[in-house]
Amino acid sequence: MSFYTEKVAPYFPLWLQVFAGLVTGILVGVLLGADIGWVTPEASARVINWLALPGYFFLAMLKMIVVPLVLASVVAGIAEAGSIAAVRTVGLRVVGYFLVTTAIAVSIGSFWAHLIQPGSFMQKAYVETALGTANKPEGLVQGVGSLNDLPQRLVGILPANPFNAIAEGEVLQIVIFAAIIGVALLAMPKTKSKPLTDMAIAVQDAAMMVVGWVLKLAPLAVFGLMAKVAATIGVATIAGVGVYMGTVVLALLSMAAVHLLIFKVSTGRSVINFLARAREVHLLAFSTSSSSATMPVTLCVAEEKMKVPPSVARFTVPLGATINMDGTALYQAVATVFLAQIFGLEVGFGALATILIMAIGASIGTPGIPGVGIVVLASILLTLGIPPEGIALIIGVDRILDMCRTAINVNGDLVVANVMGRWFGNKKA
Ligand code: ASP
Repeated sequence: MSFYTEKVAPYFPLWLQVFAGLVTGILVGVLLGADIGWVTPEASARVINWLALPGYFFLAMLKMIVVPLVLASVVAGIAEAGSIAAVRTVGLRVVGYFLVTTAIAVSIGSFWAHLIQPGSFMQKAYVETALGTANKPEGLVQGVGSLNDLPQRLVGILPANPFNAIAEGEVLQIVIFAAIIGVALLAMPKTKSKPLTDMAIAVQDAAMMVVGWVLKLAPLAVFGLMAKVAATIGVATIAGVGVYMGTVVLALLSMAAVHLLIFKVSTGRSVINFLARAREVHLLAFSTSSSSATMPVTLCVAEEKMKVPPSVARFTVPLGATINMDGTALYQAVATVFLAQIFGLEVGFGALATILIMAIGASIGTPGIPGVGIVVLASILLTLGIPPEGIALIIGVDRILDMCRTAINVNGDLVVANVMGRWFGNKKA
């Protein structure tokens, strides 16, 4: 089934359409923003809301399809995996891989933040005004978990009631439930498991068909979403924390280089081809700031363009979109070291280990949606005794950095799918 290339982007490649939407969206957003001041803030807000409408539809449609897609693809992926031993090996390797890359991400983030020292570039007056006048992030700080909650959170990944998990859209719980059902199907005689396996495959195909239709809206959606971001974030906000933003971006690019190195060494395939095939996924992750919303497209690209065997892609991509967040973990390291520098505190080895454990724990419990990283950051700061009010300094630019870290999060998901695909027999593409 290659609806992806034929039906979605018959004339211009989809990535080019999305890229055009992204660039024009930024331009229109800047023109409507307060920095240029051509339109009143009220009029700008009204226009932007309408421009962003296709983007809202796009995200709502993707969210609608995520739950049935995850359920069906994990059941089908595991049921078709051949044997329980194969599932166990892939599962253990995937989880081990996630832990190692998250540790690398935290180390890279802290390395660049210690080297560049973005905190020392902040002007005292700017810091004092921002901390004094900006809204305190109480909403973020209240109710966020600490390291002590980790055992409960770990038990919480088992769905006591799978229908509740489905109704609430708890993706990780759905993945776990589907994986257990998939293993059960594998353990049954083929004649008995076939109806349910066939049904899961049919549901997945139907969901992918819907994704293909939704993708037609992508260029317009990206245009509106980008216009909204560009109109609402002023130049002054960006300039105030420019060095910090530069540090995050540099560290994220280093992480991308590590991903590509892992890809090259494990698969022996061309990195350029990988990047060319991943274009839509990167652009969508960047403009939606959500690895969950991008997941259907990530899966589609992994299976159809990168020829990752379905039994591997259908398990690793949904799981990765939920718990593999290298970009987010790296960002937390940079932001923590940056805020510690501002408050004159040390981030030593123990603190880095705490960031790592919390980043892993948090990525297990949190969905890949916009702004999650900053909520997790609040809990890390609290645990380390760094005043969480510091978030007021960086929250103004969080959306931009969220876009960048989400692109790295999904890049990691695509790389792990390819690496596992290679280890488990894929020699094509
Ligand atoms: N927006 C990110 C994601 O969906 C999570 C975060 O860092 O806020 O992957």
